[in-house]
Amino acid sequence: MSQEQVIRERVAEIRQRIHELADGRRVKLMAVTKFHTREEAEWAIAAGVDLIGENRVQEALQKWKASPPAVPLHDIGHLQTNKVKYAIELFDSIDSVDSDRLVDLLDRTASRPFNVMLEVNVGSEESKYGLAPEAVRPYIELAGRLHHVRIRGLMTVLPARRENSVEEERRIRRHMQEMVDLWRMCRSEGWSWAPLEELSMGMSGDWEWAVEAGATLIRVGTGIFGPRAYASRG
Ligand SMILES: *Cc1c(COP(=O)(O)O)cnc(C)c1O
Repeated sequence: MSQEQVIRERVAEIRQRIHELADGRRVKLMAVTKFHTREEAEWAIAAGVDLIGENRVQEALQKWKASPPAVPLHDIGHLQTNKVKYAIELFDSIDSVDSDRLVDLLDRTASRPFNVMLEVNVGSEESKYGLAPEAVRPYIELAGRLHHVRIRGLMTVLPARRENSVEEERRIRRHMQEMVDLWRMCRSEGWSWAPLEELSMGMSGDWEWAVEAGATLIRVGTGIFGPRAYASRG
C-alpha cells in the first residue's frame, strides 16, 4: 500500500473510532505533521483531518510559508519570544501559550484578533512547559486587559505511555478528568475574551481516553503518519 493510502485508511479508522466513542459530540482531528513532508500533510488534509499542527516555527515556515494549508495551521510547540513575529503571520492559533511574557508579546505584536490556547501542565514533572492548573484561572482573569488575544481553549501534553499498566492508565485518565474539570470551571465564567471552545488533549497513545473524557480536539502524529524519522532531518 502507498503511504497516501495508509494515511487515508488511518484517518478513516480514527474518525470511525471517534464516532463510536464521542457519544454524538464533535471531536476535531489535528494531524501533527512535524518531521513529515508537506506532501504527506496534504494527503492527510485530503483524507479529511480538520487541522494541521506543527511544533517548530522554523520547520513550519519552510513547509507552509509559500502557501498555507487548506485547513487551519496551529502551533503546538513551545514558542520562543524571538519567533513571535513569524508565528503570528504563519499560524491561525498558538496553542502552547504558557507565560505572561509570551501572551503580552503576542498581544502587542498582533494587529488583528489572534487566537491562542493556554498550555496546562497537569501532574507531570517531566514536562517543562505549561501553566500549573491552579494558575490558569487567575491568568485568564488578567488576560481581560489584552487587546487582540482571544483565549480559545486549553491544551495539555500528558506524559507518553510507556508501561501499558493499569496504574498508568488510571493516572492518565485522572489527569484528563482534571483537565475537563478545569476547562468546564473556566468556561462557566463566561469571560468574553476567553470563550474556551476547545479542550485539546490526547495524542497517538491515549487519544481514545481523551475522547471518552471529553476532549474537543485530539492531536495525532504517529497514529496517522507512522514513526518520525528524527535522525534524518537533524
Ligand atoms: C508531536 C506532538 C503530538 C503528536 O504526537 P504523536 O504521539 O506522534 O501522536 C501531539 N502534541 C504535541 C504537542 C506534539 O508535540
